[in-house]
Amino acid sequence: MSLADLFHNRAVADQLTALLAGGKLVHAFLFIGGKDSRLQIGKELAKAILCESPAQGDSCGACVSCRKFDHGNHEDFLYLDLETAPGNAKTQIGVDAVELLQEQLKLKPFGARHAVLIEEAHLLNTAAQNKLLKTLEEPAGDSVIILLAEKKDALLPTVLSRCSTYYLEDEQTQPDEEMLALAKSFLAVCADSPLFYRRRDCIKPLLDEKGKPREKAAEFLQTLELLLREALLLPYGAQRSSLTRDWTAFERIREKMDQQAIARAVEAAEEAGRCIRLGYNTGYTLKQLCLSL
Ligand SMILES: [Zn+2]
Repeated sequence: MSLADLFHNRAVADQLTALLAGGKLVHAFLFIGGKDSRLQIGKELAKAILCESPAQGDSCGACVSCRKFDHGNHEDFLYLDLETAPGNAKTQIGVDAVELLQEQLKLKPFGARHAVLIEEAHLLNTAAQNKLLKTLEEPAGDSVIILLAEKKDALLPTVLSRCSTYYLEDEQTQPDEEMLALAKSFLAVCADSPLFYRRRDCIKPLLDEKGKPREKAAEFLQTLELLLREALLLPYGAQRSSLTRDWTAFERIREKMDQQAIARAVEAAEEAGRCIRLGYNTGYTLKQLCLSL
């Protein structure tokens, strides 16, 4: 595997390759996305950074460094996540983990530099993040720190400002809580009432948003689609996901909307998502959605 093999998040992989090829490596990267996507890109970047004969900004796959990396025993590759963090904190990564990392970074690397991968950086507690600041600013030697996180909200602005940040697309992203709540109440309103204005009022917050209504709407539609697809599969014995497990209204909505109505709703949500991506008016698209459910 190399950066060139990543078909998902191709654009980000290409940007990284260009950076490496141009010798413009930065000291701190942050990748925001789902676990699979971020781990994949983080590891391939680390491998390319450590490679002894990188070809056009990518790992060669054949040198000693690449082979060690593939075997999981590269001395200059340091990895930290909640599970491997020292101490017995089970919900967050504490300051002792960062201190240990800093000790390791003081040692001379075998090759040109260390590459550090911090997975679940959103679980670093405040003290740990503060401790990490200095390393992000002036990493020992030529080392590169790669942070992987689910969302950026949990990271301090001082950490964010020191990293080159990339947002990854996931096959299936865990929606944010607020959006999930909105999609759930919208679905409940749709199941309960055919009245257009009630549906429209429910999703008004998306359009009132001073920030980015288009992005919000896209996120909303993705979340809605996830819920609807789950509803569609329920009669076939599918397990409830973490999105709906504690949602008591789900059964009631399932009863009110028959299988055909749910299938139509999935199509409507998909179509609306496509319109948003194509640049159609956000308000108009959402209005059409309200009418067609
Ligand atoms: Zn190599």
